Amino acid sequence: MTSPTTAPTAVPSRSYASGIQRAFACSPHPSSTVPGSTLIKTVESFYVRPRWLFVRVETVGGVVGWGEGTLEGHSEAVQGALADIARRLVGWDAMHIEDIYTYLYRHRFYRGGGVLMSAMSGVDIALWDIKGKLLGVPVWQLLGGAVRERCQVYGWIGGDRPADVLEQAKARKTQGFTKVKMNATESVGWLDSPHALDETVSRLAAVKSVGVDAGLDFHGRLHKPMAKQLAALLEPHRPLFIEEPLLPGQVPELKDLYSKTTIPIALGERLFTRQDVRPYLEAGCIDIIQPDIAHAGGISETRKIAIMAEAYDVGVAPHCPLGPIAFAASLQVGFATPNFVICEMSWGMHYNTGGFDLLTYVTNPDVFAVRDGHVDLLTAPGLGVELNEKLIRAEAAAAAELEPWSNPVFRGPDGSVREW
Ligand SMILES: [Mg+2]
Repeated sequence: MTSPTTAPTAVPSRSYASGIQRAFACSPHPSSTVPGSTLIKTVESFYVRPRWLFVRVETVGGVVGWGEGTLEGHSEAVQGALADIARRLVGWDAMHIEDIYTYLYRHRFYRGGGVLMSAMSGVDIALWDIKGKLLGVPVWQLLGGAVRERCQVYGWIGGDRPADVLEQAKARKTQGFTKVKMNATESVGWLDSPHALDETVSRLAAVKSVGVDAGLDFHGRLHKPMAKQLAALLEPHRPLFIEEPLLPGQVPELKDLYSKTTIPIALGERLFTRQDVRPYLEAGCIDIIQPDIAHAGGISETRKIAIMAEAYDVGVAPHCPLGPIAFAASLQVGFATPNFVICEMSWGMHYNTGGFDLLTYVTNPDVFAVRDGHVDLLTAPGLGVELNEKLIRAEAAAAAELEPWSNPVFRGPDGSVREW
């Protein structure tokens, strides 16, 4: 018989417990225990400048949830879809998010697409906000709990016709960003001069000299003859990723481009469902999926897209050149999703004009502070962002008198329409 010579030196459960350690108290809303109080009383939408569409859902018990269904340039169409949804959902239990999503997606026969999915997204995000507020927990708690203490974010530099990005890159660095994104090119012909691409390469080199990494958004503006040239030219300069190097729908062509470059390929802002994303994953032609939570079915569907992507070793970088509600919802998914990579943030973006920016309608803007390229865990119940409802109502009334935002039209020297 032998006796142990050494005793265990540490309790394994303690030595391995180095994850998220903060304790969070739940403080349910008083109405949460009142029968019938969680029924939906109203669904409203508000189009506000610069170009955002907010959704407000209120329960019988007085809990208000906010969502965002912005579909840039198509706000009137989404508002029409929302008017129909609002009429149908009064009296439904706001707690039954999955049932409501399934009803709105499946029951109506015609499904998917930017307009219907954006309307659903606005409602879905608002319902998650309501559920979090009713139960007294942040949305990430409802998604399984936090897997990180902060989410990495990137800002925008340059505009639709990018130039002089150096100063803007320095400004973003001062704001706290370590990574940025910019448009790769202006409008480009189907078969353009190779020199049309020269400026893109020098611009990336200039931005990287500031000490930030940069993703390049091809924006679906380039067709195959130019896209493969630009990818090759950029390769030595190591962009963070290239986004929509070809238009959505070109799966075999994207697969071919994928095999020609080592640059990570990102895409997904114009895909709206798991069914839309599936062929890209199965073809193995992307490294990063970029669902836009305001178009891709809200928190419910974006979360499912993320989980599906993980099985293909694809990371998730929520697309979000939009407003504060979509941004908060994207972060909530990011906090709870292991394959989350980075989230877009529209603070100071070139479309946020006329004094309207990411923080305009937010009464607790400190929650979006960027430190060392990250935004800290949102800890308040629901989405964790508080909205200035009085300002939103006043601005929606003012914006209703104006032309809604629409994207610029690009035409080539022969007068023909080009991709924007
Ligand atoms: Mg893009």
